[in-house]
Amino acid sequence: MAGSLRLALFGPPGAGKGTQAQLLKDKLNVAHVSSGDLFRHHINEGTELGARATEFMSKGLLVPDDLVIEMVLDEVSGLEQGSGFILDGFPRTRDQAAALETALRARRQPLDKALLVSVPQAELVRRLGGRFICRECQAPYNLEESQFASPPRCERCSGELYQRDDDRPDAIQVRIGVYQEQTAPVLDFYRERGLLEEISGVGAVEDINARALEALGLDSSAQVG
Ligand code: AMP
Repeated sequence: MAGSLRLALFGPPGAGKGTQAQLLKDKLNVAHVSSGDLFRHHINEGTELGARATEFMSKGLLVPDDLVIEMVLDEVSGLEQGSGFILDGFPRTRDQAAALETALRARRQPLDKALLVSVPQAELVRRLGGRFICRECQAPYNLEESQFASPPRCERCSGELYQRDDDRPDAIQVRIGVYQEQTAPVLDFYRERGLLEEISGVGAVEDINARALEALGLDSSAQVG
């Protein structure tokens, strides 16, 4: 049976949100809605939305609110009524957060929690510089510099691993700045509503996942749903 938790996941670029979202999705049996993955899908498919988004994404800038809001809310409204979800990478501005709140209120399904995965800035720069992702299934990998020239294939699906344009050094600095200026204020939005929990995103993936489940009030050994 599908789980019912409705969660928004936050963290600076490189905090490991995507990895934690995948683990939580599998453990809680909820949908994973990643705005970045949706945009990359549009880009791969060559859609008009993908073409509009790519100019912003390749520079590490946020895609304008109207484009993002429509795309993500469409995805959420396509979920079965009552089924849970993890929003990963959305909302990233206060206007996006307000639009989401209005849409979920109309469905009588407000968010249960917002979870922030915190990682110090020096660690983010180090991680993002070595991040490659699978072109097919989007699974993230951390490679050593010596592997950059001929990256291995994806362990899950044998897809090609590549480095995103926005994981190159100049774009990384822009993305961290954008996060601090535009997305950090969204955390106050959820803090004011008493929904925000914060965990450290440093350490082994499974330990971070156990912290996440604990912060959400779920036993880390439990299979929910
Ligand atoms: P991500 O995979 O979440 O790091 O997103 C990659 C890029 O997609 C971001 O740097 C933005 O350019 C764009 N993007 C993803 N989600 C949003 C959002 N909620 N608002 C604006 N731009 C977004």
